[in-house]
Amino acid sequence: MVRPSSDIWQLFDIEKTDKKSKAVCKFCCFKYAFPNATRMTNHILNQCSKCPLEIKQTYGNEIQSSSKSSTSEEKESNKDILLEALEDTSLP
Ligand SMILES: [Zn+2]
Repeated sequence: MVRPSSDIWQLFDIEKTDKKSKAVCKFCCFKYAFPNATRMTNHILNQCSKCPLEIKQTYGNEIQSSSKSSTSEEKESNKDILLEALEDTSLP
């Protein structure tokens, strides 16, 4: 399972024990029994206290660009349209 695109693995040491492998954070030595790129990214961004800020920003930008979407504005405008439609139907 090698993914060259997710270099989050570079921030972790892989410890192999028997059949399992653990991911160990290079900054704070936190161990993940079940290495997972999503969890490891989450650790670096939200949980790791020793990770340099510039590294957090590198991975943080990737996540923010894909997850954000405008929803509140659309809901507001839909409400207005609905109210206008109700007013129209109440007229004779
Ligand atoms: Zn850490």
